[in-house]
Amino acid sequence: MVKEIQLRINLVEEAQPNILVQKSAGFLKIRVDDISGIKVLRKSIDARKPQIILNYKVAVYIKEPLPKTSQYHFNYQDVSNAKPIHIIGFGPAGMYAALRCIELGFKPIVFERGKNVQDRRRDIKAINQDHIVNEDSNYCFGEGGAGTYSDGKLYTRSLKRGDVRRIFENLVYHGATEQILIDAHPHIGTNKLPKVVQNIRETILKYGGEIHFETRVVDFTVKTGKIKSIQLQNGLEIPVCRVILATGHSARDIFYLLFKKKIALEAKSFAMGVRVEHPQHIIDSIQYHCKGDRNALLPAASYALVQQVNERGVYSFCMCPGGFIVPAATAMGEVVVNGMSPSKRNNLFANSGIVVEINADKDLYKYEQFGPLKGLEYQKDLEKLAFTAGGRTQSAPAQRLTDFVIGKLSNDLNPTSYQPGLNSAPLHSLLPKFIGSRLRKGFEAFGQKMKGYYTVEANVVGVESRTSSPVCIPRNDYLEHPEVSGLFPCGEGGGYAGGIVSAAMDGERCAEAAIKGL
Ligand SMILES: Cc1cc2nc3c(=O)[nH]c(=O)nc-3n(C[C@H](O)[C@H](O)[C@H](O)COP(=O)(O)OP(=O)(O)OC[C@H]3O[C@@H](n4cnc5c(N)ncnc54)[C@H](O)[C@@H]3O)c2cc1C
Repeated sequence: MVKEIQLRINLVEEAQPNILVQKSAGFLKIRVDDISGIKVLRKSIDARKPQIILNYKVAVYIKEPLPKTSQYHFNYQDVSNAKPIHIIGFGPAGMYAALRCIELGFKPIVFERGKNVQDRRRDIKAINQDHIVNEDSNYCFGEGGAGTYSDGKLYTRSLKRGDVRRIFENLVYHGATEQILIDAHPHIGTNKLPKVVQNIRETILKYGGEIHFETRVVDFTVKTGKIKSIQLQNGLEIPVCRVILATGHSARDIFYLLFKKKIALEAKSFAMGVRVEHPQHIIDSIQYHCKGDRNALLPAASYALVQQVNERGVYSFCMCPGGFIVPAATAMGEVVVNGMSPSKRNNLFANSGIVVEINADKDLYKYEQFGPLKGLEYQKDLEKLAFTAGGRTQSAPAQRLTDFVIGKLSNDLNPTSYQPGLNSAPLHSLLPKFIGSRLRKGFEAFGQKMKGYYTVEANVVGVESRTSSPVCIPRNDYLEHPEVSGLFPCGEGGGYAGGIVSAAMDGERCAEAAIKGL
């Protein structure tokens, strides 16, 4: 017999061996010996009160063995000689589209402008140490896309868009820890992601798919409303029938290409702002009500904050406890910051994007001449501004949080995890008023919500500009572009995802749509 129950365990109990069995036996009023095993289904932390509680949902196996295998099976088959589906981009959307093609008996042929994870490492190092941004290989471009050197947080709100559990099981199948199946806020960590991505590549190759790295798609031809071929940077022209366009939100050349070809695009609402960095112990002490170090059984604390300011949302985005701020620009002449953390989340800093919602219909009137690309041009201008204010390298402009809010240039800055370094700059006056004034009010409000958050010990770092795509590539009910049959805009670049899991789910859906009628 199997019984699913909820247990509440305090930190003293958590430290005791076999506590889940003991507690389950007590809860079910059965003997400990009758329990043959326990499977943790969910684990979350309730830190609202000083007495911190761990909430467990467990399946108790009573006189019955624990099942050994997952209920998810991935029916990969040899597709070497199957009909091809062409996929542009090998981020989470492209990877999951390719895997799904193989399950469905079609051969994925992937073109990825960036390098494989190993070679990509060198370019990441060059950004951090030499301030050189390779426009094909960086934190956003390369094997695994923006998801590889990301934080690997797997939380998603897009539960209705697909089978989230299937995405997680597939990550576990490719080497991610089973813990992601349990945690309420699962996380893989930037140190573990490259191996998972590499394993996905190996599955695709093993079953007969093709992946072409360092192969940028630069053009395509459309005849009588159908996509006919794609053109590679090396001059090759590849005939195609079905193309999944999964190039991500930073592939500006793709947006420009579609615009130039007069293929319909739409401006999309998005968000921009700064990244704020606190010493992790400050966030721990606020969230866990502790002085000094947090309890060793607890992970680095996180937070999620939101505040309406003058009719726009100001909110925390991609919060990285125990993490690093990273330079996520995709070209020279721009500064873009983002965040990531290792699996142990054991770095000394907590960082988070704090961004302001930008309504594409109401807030970009000065950029109307750019049509559907108005948000993209606004985003570019902010990134150029950050580059100039940062000192024209990958150093980022920064200010102490309190100075930013009161409007004063910082004489000096706090230590930071951002490797290329920080440059003191008056972000309060440099950022467009629309963003800057809302951020300042938002930070004040956050200080009220989390006592200790508004502190001179935190830095704000500019700019957090790539939260999601400022452009939407439209698609119809069959997930095809309404004007180009055979072209399936997919993932975050199309405007259909906002993170690793939603991009992966969209990749699967696009693969299912692309094979129809082939
Ligand atoms: C530092 C950082 C941290 C992040 N942390 C998290 C997190 O913790 N959790 C989370 O859910 N999300 C996180 N994200 C966001 C997440 O990575 C993206 O939402 C996700 O990767 C989007 O997937 P995608 O496949 O749609 O696009 P992308 O991952 O952007 O992949 C697109 C791919 O297409 C390739 N490409 C672009 N143009 C071309 C072309 N012309 N020809 C060939 N290939 C091309 C690119 O090189 C890239 O590899 C983070 C992002 C960054 C940068």
